[in-house]
Amino acid sequence: MSAGLRERALAAASGVVDPEIPVLTIADLGVLRAVRLAGDTVEIEITPTYSGCPAMRVIEQELATALRAAGIGKFRIATVLSPAWTTDWLSKEGRRKLAEFGIAPPAGISRRSHFGTDAVACPRCGSAETERISEFGSTACKALYRCRRCAEPFDYFKCH
Ligand SMILES: [Zn+2]
Repeated sequence: MSAGLRERALAAASGVVDPEIPVLTIADLGVLRAVRLAGDTVEIEITPTYSGCPAMRVIEQELATALRAAGIGKFRIATVLSPAWTTDWLSKEGRRKLAEFGIAPPAGISRRSHFGTDAVACPRCGSAETERISEFGSTACKALYRCRRCAEPFDYFKCH
């Protein structure tokens, strides 16, 4: 019974999507940190992509809705700030979905350029000849870039 409860809670929580990037679930993002049982209560831990991310409120509400829809009434949702979320927590699947959505996935530390800024590849043509137009894109979590080759502006998911 309790094993089934955790499975159901995990399945429900894993299906919650990010309000800013609806192709990504919070499991893809690595925002969903833990789903466990404390007696008959489901405990869920989430870590915001950056502190003060306004999306977290929405994610908590979506989580509560998803859990209730799965028939789970007793749960606690805790926001864990440490260790801080990094883009390394994005799953492979998450990176792939981001690129398909037209958002450049985070470059990661290994692909940082020597100038300390992210080496961002264009999600459309793959060119590395990109420039940052604005620190903030469509949301605070994204920066606006433009590809020099295909001249397309695109969002870069930069939260870390
Ligand atoms: Zn391009």
